[in-house]
Amino acid sequence: MMGTHLRAQCGSAAMLALLIAACSTTMTGRKQLTLIDDAKMDALGVAAFTDIKQQGKVEKDPAANAYIRCVADPILAVIPKGGAAPKDGNWEVIVFDDSTPNAFALPGGKIGVHTGMLTVATTPGQLAAVIGHEIGHVLLRHGNERMSQTIVAQSTMEAGSIALSQTKPAYRDAVVGGLGVGAQYGVLLPYSRKHESEADVVGQRFMAEAGFDPAEAIKLWQKMAKLSQGQQPPEWMSTHPAHETRIENLQANLPTARDLYRGARARGKRPKCVPPPTRPGN
Ligand SMILES: [Zn+2]
Repeated sequence: MMGTHLRAQCGSAAMLALLIAACSTTMTGRKQLTLIDDAKMDALGVAAFTDIKQQGKVEKDPAANAYIRCVADPILAVIPKGGAAPKDGNWEVIVFDDSTPNAFALPGGKIGVHTGMLTVATTPGQLAAVIGHEIGHVLLRHGNERMSQTIVAQSTMEAGSIALSQTKPAYRDAVVGGLGVGAQYGVLLPYSRKHESEADVVGQRFMAEAGFDPAEAIKLWQKMAKLSQGQQPPEWMSTHPAHETRIENLQANLPTARDLYRGARARGKRPKCVPPPTRPGN
């Protein structure tokens, strides 16, 4: 590394005033470095999503679309407004006809779910855990933080340039990798253990508040851990790597999430979502 290497951490004594001004606090109470403003992140997310929609095949099957909306809508109804959520409050949910098990969410209110994800997240609760986790990454500004760390590492210090130069190959990798859609572009940038844990905690809370059993998040990750040891781990695992304490953390948070779940059920939040029949190829 360079001799003038800066630690991309908020609160570091070596940090420039510019960086201090660009610190924000996550909903979990952690200080983070965010050099790019939310509106610009939204624009990047929308552009990447448009690209992905053009490259991919949008699933038209009404049963698959109805199922994924049935799971996503109750979550979207309970997540916090403002902050890194889309300014107009609207989230677009697109189902892709793609047998690779993957799902993602982007700033600007964009969610993509591959039909192949349903072969891994086989219950509504497990799909809710996936979607809650993905929305967690967006609301926690993890993409912004990762891109900010890349900017600091490259010492460009021009927060705007990375966004404006998104079509230049040198920046493109940082942008799509930072947004967590690297797998779609062949750029793999796994989320850190810290980001994964934060997305797990808030994701489990969101699914519980929406009326899905938060224990299903544990079942999902137990399954993921098993599949990641196999010959063909799910594509989702490459950007959301499993770590050994993840299931313990989800277990530790389960009592709190269960309280939220019970409260939600008592208020009539009882989503009844029926998975579509599996098709050949998926
Ligand atoms: Zn993740």
